Amino acid sequence: MSNESVQLIYPSDEIVKNAAVSGMDAYRALCAEAEADYEGFWAKRAREFITWKTPFTQTLDESNAPFFKWFADGKLNVSYNCLDRNVEAGLGDKVAIIFEADNGEVTKVTYKELLAKVCKMANLLRSKGVKKGDRVVIYLPMTIEGIVAMQACARIGAPHSIVFGGFSAQSLRDRINDAGAVMLITSDGQFRGGKAIPLKPIADEAFSMGGCESVKNVIVFKRTGGDVNMVAGRDEWLHDGLANQPETCEPEWVEAEHPLFLLYTSGSTGKPKGVQHSTGGYLLHAIMTMKWTFDIKPTDTFWCTADIGWVTGHTYITYGPLACGATEIVFEGVPTYPDAGRFWKMIQDHKATIFYTAPTAIRSLIKAADSNAAVHPKSYDLSSLRILGSVGEPINPAAWQWYYDNVGGGRCPIVDTFWQTETGGHMITPLPGATPLVPGSCTLPFPGIQFAVVDETGADLPWGQGGILVCKKPWPSMIRTIWGDPDRFVKSYYPADFQGKYYLAGDGAIRDADTGYFTITGRIDDVLNVSGHRMGTMEIESALVANPLVAEAAVVGRPDDLTGEAIVAFVVLKGARPTDPEAAKKIIKELSDWVGKEIGPIAKPKDIRFGDNLPKTRSGKIMRRLLRGLAKGEELTQDTSTLENPAILEQLKG
Ligand code: ATP
Ligand code: MG
Repeated sequence: MSNESVQLIYPSDEIVKNAAVSGMDAYRALCAEAEADYEGFWAKRAREFITWKTPFTQTLDESNAPFFKWFADGKLNVSYNCLDRNVEAGLGDKVAIIFEADNGEVTKVTYKELLAKVCKMANLLRSKGVKKGDRVVIYLPMTIEGIVAMQACARIGAPHSIVFGGFSAQSLRDRINDAGAVMLITSDGQFRGGKAIPLKPIADEAFSMGGCESVKNVIVFKRTGGDVNMVAGRDEWLHDGLANQPETCEPEWVEAEHPLFLLYTSGSTGKPKGVQHSTGGYLLHAIMTMKWTFDIKPTDTFWCTADIGWVTGHTYITYGPLACGATEIVFEGVPTYPDAGRFWKMIQDHKATIFYTAPTAIRSLIKAADSNAAVHPKSYDLSSLRILGSVGEPINPAAWQWYYDNVGGGRCPIVDTFWQTETGGHMITPLPGATPLVPGSCTLPFPGIQFAVVDETGADLPWGQGGILVCKKPWPSMIRTIWGDPDRFVKSYYPADFQGKYYLAGDGAIRDADTGYFTITGRIDDVLNVSGHRMGTMEIESALVANPLVAEAAVVGRPDDLTGEAIVAFVVLKGARPTDPEAAKKIIKELSDWVGKEIGPIAKPKDIRFGDNLPKTRSGKIMRRLLRGLAKGEELTQDTSTLENPAILEQLKG
């Protein structure tokens, strides 16, 4: 990224004054503390922020690297840390969850009530023979029950594996099979955008494929009242199972390294991997990032719009906010129902103070707001907001600015949090009361996190030079292994290229020559080489999105005899997709000239194609591997099971 135009946006004095990490000196002091005594830095917070049943005496164990262990001789329970200890501290009557259903119905649950629900569910699981170490697959919509089910698993030491409620029978079957789950918790169906969508029938289909024989019990939550088929002796309604369960349940005290959960990554780059997380280290980072990145205070109303099917929903819905005794909003529906003002109305109604969402949602809401003032954020009272967040993809500077101006009223810092399923929590992110912001940059590593930009041999690159993003030191919330496939874990994340010493994130990055700020340039395999010029796809996409006609864009390379690689751009316009070839030609020329002017003639796409949308994973990420195939004119034989909108591929064939 060129930095002539870098302008820093500073947090207000008020935010700085009250922030947990107040000012850049405080941030630097934390980094220096970690530098001076790495283990001591984490151990101190682990003692302060977690309630241990058995305190740990050992911090980091590197003896079997890269299978690192943290706090290994300590014992704890995550559900105890999220619920009991808050009730014991006098927060029993505080609202833990404000649940808003798809149809707008609101249900509030206090910490005391949530604890009772989790205990009942945990007792039910135990009564079905589920014990410490058994895997439970949860295939539920965004509901209070989804969170309760996760917490109940944590309470009895049974690692959960959530499968997003939008995944197919095949995806569910593969994940149940890979995890060897003993139980499935699902629902009759789910509500999304005013429609009832079946879920249990999809689970039935998964079972009929074979490979789910490890599952002994299926618990079915009644959500929509849809017809379901119950298999005698295996399937039971949740309400029946809960009927006589006591409201207290002794937690299973587990070792810090005991797996809290498995989560299969979304698959934007290949076959999903079962990412295995720990208990102690994971919980620590969930709490630390809630405190420092989100600056969570007792008076906040926190809203993370993710689904529990993604890691963001794990760390910033089910675990982080509750472990901090916060009040959080949980939303069942979609951002565009009943209209595209839903998010803004919910912020207004519930007086949300911290709002955390994804660039894909922001871009689609910009498109909607541009054509309908009634759903523009300015038509709502969003004055309760104090901090905004972004996660999941790089946020284009133009979308960042819109979010900052229109949602945050120019008042709220945006924490652009870079992290991954594998990292458990934020890795590179601004801290709201410290870091001056630059649109489109995730700025600086979280205190203690040792990220760097290196070349293919692992040598550090100077600021201003793009390269490979690695983490030089293990950190508490890191992935422990890939479930059942330790070799793949080592190959994927600790490759021999770096002598097995550095964690490979799989993303490219560049540090700004003046500030040292990180910008993610895209996945490593998304770096283009056109006539010897290396460019990140993200840079070209951001230039396209900055054009007033464009809502969204994805850029990939395809082999080219002349230039080595040629740039192909897939574009979604704010207006209708041009079907008339002449009209299309005109827009193509305009966009191509635009990119030429914004970046340079070398970056002009050779081929621009229009679609009503882009192929995305269910978590809203653009599937560039499919676009690479389309760009080359290949027949698509790749795995599209995690794709949200397969019909779009036809339009983009070119
Ligand atoms: P898979 O690993 O199966 O291909 P995935 O990488 O999309 O799927 P996640 O772990 O949910 O699954 O996403 C992590 C990735 O998302 C990062 O590696 C990065 O590419 C991207 N990402 C997340 N947050 C940001 C951010 N703030 N800025 C830039 N990129 C981000
Ligand atoms: Mg990934």
